[in-house]
Amino acid sequence: MKTVFAKSKPGRKGVMPAVPKTSAAKMLPETLLRKKRPALPEMSELDVIRHFTGLSKLNYGVDGNFYPLGSCTMKYNPRMNESAAALPGFTAAHPLLAQLPEGEALVQGSLEAIWETERLLCELNGMSAFTMQPMAGAQGELTGALLIAAYHKAKGNKKTKVIVPDAAHGTNPATAALAGYEVVNIKSKDGIVDPEALEAVLDDDVAALMMTCPNTLGLFERHLPKLVEKLRSVDALLYYDGANLNAIMGRMRVGDVGFDVVHLNLHKTMSTPHGGGGPGSGPVGVSERLVPFLPGPRVIKKADGKFGLEYNLPQSIGQVTPFYGHFGVYIKALAYMLRLGGKGLGKASDYAVLNANYIRKRLEGHIDIPYPQICMHEFVASAVTTEAQGVKALDIAKALLDKGYHAPTIYFPLIVKECLMFEPTETESKETLDLFCDDLIAILKEAEKNPDALHAAPVNLPVRRLDETKAAREMVLKDDV
Ligand SMILES: *Cc1c(COP(=O)(O)O)cnc(C)c1O
Repeated sequence: MKTVFAKSKPGRKGVMPAVPKTSAAKMLPETLLRKKRPALPEMSELDVIRHFTGLSKLNYGVDGNFYPLGSCTMKYNPRMNESAAALPGFTAAHPLLAQLPEGEALVQGSLEAIWETERLLCELNGMSAFTMQPMAGAQGELTGALLIAAYHKAKGNKKTKVIVPDAAHGTNPATAALAGYEVVNIKSKDGIVDPEALEAVLDDDVAALMMTCPNTLGLFERHLPKLVEKLRSVDALLYYDGANLNAIMGRMRVGDVGFDVVHLNLHKTMSTPHGGGGPGSGPVGVSERLVPFLPGPRVIKKADGKFGLEYNLPQSIGQVTPFYGHFGVYIKALAYMLRLGGKGLGKASDYAVLNANYIRKRLEGHIDIPYPQICMHEFVASAVTTEAQGVKALDIAKALLDKGYHAPTIYFPLIVKECLMFEPTETESKETLDLFCDDLIAILKEAEKNPDALHAAPVNLPVRRLDETKAAREMVLKDDV
């Protein structure tokens, strides 16, 4: 598709606003004036509308069709929550206002919204406090790892290692390494952490266990209480990657199980359309013993009921983002929690788990399901049998594109061969799930009869198979070559 610049025709115009009586040129000093007119495209209004409508049709989103991308929770996000975040009282408030004594009174509503979001997240997860600052899951993890390091430092503990199970999300070992820890990997048994494997590597040098639950196989870690007990015995902390909260919210509280740190991905679980890198919010919740180390400033409710910011936090790890994080994203989360209520949040988890198990059962016998037990909000399949006929996970994913779906996550987690990872989310109807299963089963049958047809997929999209390595190595970022 051509860019607006390529479509530009000199002299073509859209709506022309009236020329102001005093031109801007007269109001600005000479040194600030352009010497040449800006090279803006010249188009009619209709051309502009068609250009951007055309672009929007090339984009695939959950508003268009089913999006079973595992590990990402691509669910429908109600428009009402967008409206709440777009209220002018929120969007027009300057973030510096809260830092001025006379400004604090003007942003009481925004401060209360932050305070209330933290309070509800505490209640939902059984934690003592939350920081809303981190702007992504991975940043939440790093914040959590820094909190763990600060705790051990304050206690005089010399800790050098973080244990990460093989079914944890890839950001977990990356975070531990970034925070300066040696990463110790442990192998899962039947898809979940094996307490004996943990025992084998546990010693006084262990700072923490970082665990994704449900893990990247979509399985619940059934040995949590045992693991908590073992880690406590060496004064190691427990980190819970809660990006998969969609499977457990309203059903289990990580604080009650004994975890010290949890990060959530509000952009996955609580109503923010995401993809392509943003926007995100990765708040971090902590148990009582880690509260003093939380990033500052912290929103507080004063004795007179007014809200303000607390800067006097001598043990704090410091500020981890400018201002208070992605304010708009957590306003949507607040609206989401208030609309669903405790019971509704639990129901959302129930349906997320039910939908994943429904697809898993319907695919049984058509594709290899390496972990056949009941799953949580997602599950993995493996294209090992079709691979024998020359049809790989990649081919199946590409064939799904031709049928109008977003592909599932493929080749992740790494511990499953020819992996396809499906996450339907709770917002899809049985009809949608059935149609998807019918289409996928048809593709799997085609793989047996006519494998070559799948090698050509996608045939219905603007671009066919791309050489991804070449695209990364020889980037072409201009359209006029
Ligand atoms: C998505 C995800 C992350 C990373 O979150 P980002 O917001 O993409 O940084 C971490 N852990 C798990 C389990 C995830 O699914």
